[in-house]
Amino acid sequence: MDCGRRRILWLWPVALAMASVLGCSGLRSTEQPIVVKRTQMQMGTLVSITAVAPTAEGAQAAVTAGFAEIKRLERLLSTWRADSELSTVNQAAGHHPVRVSPDTMEVVARSLDMARLTEGGFNIAVGPAVDAWSVTERQRVPSAEELRALHDVVDWRRVEIDRAAQTIFLPAQGMRLDVGGIGKGFAADKAVEVLRTSGAQAGVVALSGDIKTFGDLPGMQGFPVGIRHPRQEDALVTRLDLRNEAISTAGDYERFFEQDGVRYHHILDPVTLEPARLCQSVTVIAPEGTVADGLDTGIFVLGPERGMALVERLPGVDVIIIDADGRMTVSPGLRARLRDP
Ligand code: ADP
Ligand code: MG
Repeated sequence: MDCGRRRILWLWPVALAMASVLGCSGLRSTEQPIVVKRTQMQMGTLVSITAVAPTAEGAQAAVTAGFAEIKRLERLLSTWRADSELSTVNQAAGHHPVRVSPDTMEVVARSLDMARLTEGGFNIAVGPAVDAWSVTERQRVPSAEELRALHDVVDWRRVEIDRAAQTIFLPAQGMRLDVGGIGKGFAADKAVEVLRTSGAQAGVVALSGDIKTFGDLPGMQGFPVGIRHPRQEDALVTRLDLRNEAISTAGDYERFFEQDGVRYHHILDPVTLEPARLCQSVTVIAPEGTVADGLDTGIFVLGPERGMALVERLPGVDVIIIDADGRMTVSPGLRARLRDP
């Protein structure tokens, strides 16, 4: 479960908090559309969904449909559930391919795309090494031999997907897929699609710090968000408004332990299988949550130089990188949009 402070704060304006209360109580003003916001625990984290619609019933129905969509994806993708499709794929590792639904195929295929894009920085097969560290539970540093022995099973190039047959095959026992680094962004995209088809004219889906927005809130242009300082609690590094886009932050400051003065956190460099050392925080803004979430983890591993070079090749994608020394760099497309915290 994600118990830490949020990496991205949605700066919910007072006027909208009022509108939300009105929306929830079913009252309606004649000019303004209704805003409804609800929060639930899903996918092991706090999920909040906001929908803007002409009627309170419409906005409520859209929010309900959004939560149902995330629940459906959780049943397919959660590796905490032994009966999910992804767990079935993992249990068949070294034995046989498993037929999966289009959503499971899509998230795995997109993860492999992200791995290619980030030269393996993002690695959907890194789970066995994440377990060896078990940052939130055992909090112990695994031995070099233990990590070396895992290299073969964390090789994402060995994952076999067959789109025609709709199957996924992990060819070696001990291999395992885990969408921890991309699944929240993917779920935000899918929930937004459902909000739209349910009749919402604007909305926000936020799975902890993975946020996807569409349309505008009544009387506003965009959705204001603040990005947390990786070393100063309750401080922001910057703010910006989101419009029809997603944002996601990967940071080393929420899930970590310290031993002998060294910080060990939960994002691993797939080359060393040790915590990635080049960044404190990476925030990606992209049209899709899947891209924002996959890239934040991948760029965290690549580091500021290779990460920035990658983003400059990707149209519509921007990044805020805070490196290991606390220096912030911002991609050119974003500079004019940032405001003082
Ligand atoms: P969260 O928002 O849950 O912290 P992140 O997008 O920051 O997710 O990704 C961190 C999670 O991704 C880890 O908890 C782990 O399960 C997984 N992970 C760790 N290292 C990598 C990696 N190099 N590539 C892909 N996933 C990773
Ligand atoms: Mg991520």
